[in-house]
Amino acid sequence: MNEAKLKFYKSLGLKLTPQRLAILEYLENNRSHPSAEDIYNALKPHFPSMSFATVYNTLEVLVEKGLVKEINIESNKKRFDAFTHPHHHFFCKGCKKIIDIENNQNITIPKELKDYELTEFQVIFYGFCPECKNKRGKR
Ligand code: ZN
Ligand code: MN
Repeated sequence: MNEAKLKFYKSLGLKLTPQRLAILEYLENNRSHPSAEDIYNALKPHFPSMSFATVYNTLEVLVEKGLVKEINIESNKKRFDAFTHPHHHFFCKGCKKIIDIENNQNITIPKELKDYELTEFQVIFYGFCPECKNKRGKR
């Protein structure tokens, strides 16, 4: 992680423990929208003393600081995204993968909202990815 970034995190009043840094780095290098469990399982071998609560609490802090976004697509499992630039998602109902949709051009704002001030919006497309679609076809 570079100096400028570290400085930026410190400017947010974020205490940077090695575990917090590892969680941040893991998220920044990962576009799979991992859950808290995924992050915990990936980092546990490097931080044997790290508890699941630490991961969970760190994620809450990162969300609060705006460094990470929470994605509530699966009802029982929050997923996390360090790519905070506005974008949309596709959720595969087969393998549960979430992919980023960065092409915002063809999404129209509903006319019901014409008098509202929109600050952000996020579209979630649901369905089956090509692999899952093929598997379903073969059943
Ligand atoms: Zn799939
Ligand atoms: Mn995303």
